[in-house]
Amino acid sequence: MTAVSGASALSNIDIEKFLLDALAEKELDRGELCLLAEQLGDPALRSRLFEVASELKQRSKGDVVTVSRNVFIPLTNLCRNRCGYCTFAKQPGSPEAKTYALEEVASTVRSAQQAGCLEALFCLGDKPERAYKEHRAWLAERGFASTAEYLIEACKLTFRAGMFPHSNAGILTRSEMEALRPWNASMGLMLETSSTRLRGKGMPHYYAPDKEPSVRLRMHEEAGELKIPFTSGLLLGIGETNEERVDTLFALRDIEDRYGHLQEVIVQPFHPKFDTPMADSAPLTEEIFAAWVALARLVLGSHMNLQAPPNLSPTVLPMLLAAGVNDWGGVSPVSLDYINPEAPWPALLELHRQTEASGQKLRERLPVYPEWITHRPEYFEPQMLEVLKARADGEGYARAHTVELDPHPQQGRKREAAA
Ligand code: SF4
Repeated sequence: MTAVSGASALSNIDIEKFLLDALAEKELDRGELCLLAEQLGDPALRSRLFEVASELKQRSKGDVVTVSRNVFIPLTNLCRNRCGYCTFAKQPGSPEAKTYALEEVASTVRSAQQAGCLEALFCLGDKPERAYKEHRAWLAERGFASTAEYLIEACKLTFRAGMFPHSNAGILTRSEMEALRPWNASMGLMLETSSTRLRGKGMPHYYAPDKEPSVRLRMHEEAGELKIPFTSGLLLGIGETNEERVDTLFALRDIEDRYGHLQEVIVQPFHPKFDTPMADSAPLTEEIFAAWVALARLVLGSHMNLQAPPNLSPTVLPMLLAAGVNDWGGVSPVSLDYINPEAPWPALLELHRQTEASGQKLRERLPVYPEWITHRPEYFEPQMLEVLKARADGEGYARAHTVELDPHPQQGRKREAAA
């Protein structure tokens, strides 16, 4: 390993001791991790980091990497926040503003089922009714007082049609989550960052009150109290420092230690969008991003399901696999990634090929991870657990079904194959 100079840098021996502690899943020292993070430009260090992360992944997940075949339903792209990097949210009156009618949700679900999708990812803007009277009126015409109430109806419809909703609807109250829980296999909210600095003037979350870290952490805690299988994650490259990234990782670890309901953590790289205030901000290099994936594995431990979206780093999937990911997340054969519309999903067949090339195997999961279906019944209402078990095999993975891995994603081509 390359020697590192500088009084505050970790020596090679310190680095090796730190990595061995991580391998032994001992509590890691924040200060040492911050020092290590400053040295991620060192290829030899990254290579050793990947070895440790990969060994941790293998310890708990073996050679399996998972994927969920889903459909992305952006129930509404109106949002009361204005994050500096967001291209998803639209203003009312914009030709691209859209709120799905329930009939459109139903027809989208039907098409997705024909393509073999099991998960309906409801991803939507945060409380648009608080900012836009047009949206309040739209909801009121249909008998709903809030977007969350409307979402509950969309989830009921979807679940009754035979798909599993996973809602990511921004900040929800405890009672809203309680009402959504029976109709959702799992739910989520990206923590993104624990940095309050990014809420400051000129920073990406200045116009985004729902990105206040304490508010997001409180929702994580309430989801834990309600026993909701929960997805969280980090967004890397929006102006946070290395120390703030470390703190975000430790905040997620702390939540998991106290509540045990984090079913997965997504490590997501910022991608600049041309029509946003952060269009000219440089994203992390792929090597540094992968190094942070590995650090996430070290902090969150061997048991955590760690995901990196394959459409955001399509040329370095082997590196992400080496860095300890065990999940590719939701990949859709029928819909766009509406948050990152510039980044098409890779074909499931290609993911399969690249995963196998790394010596691992790709398996389809439901929105909930297998071990939750087989070993954590207290996280589900009886009706949800019954249907999850019916759609899962004995190990909790998605039962083989009649649509094979589609080599042409987003074209919705149905193919018959052996069950
Ligand atoms: S990133 Fe999410 S919260 Fe921020 S503006 Fe976009 S949709 Fe709203």
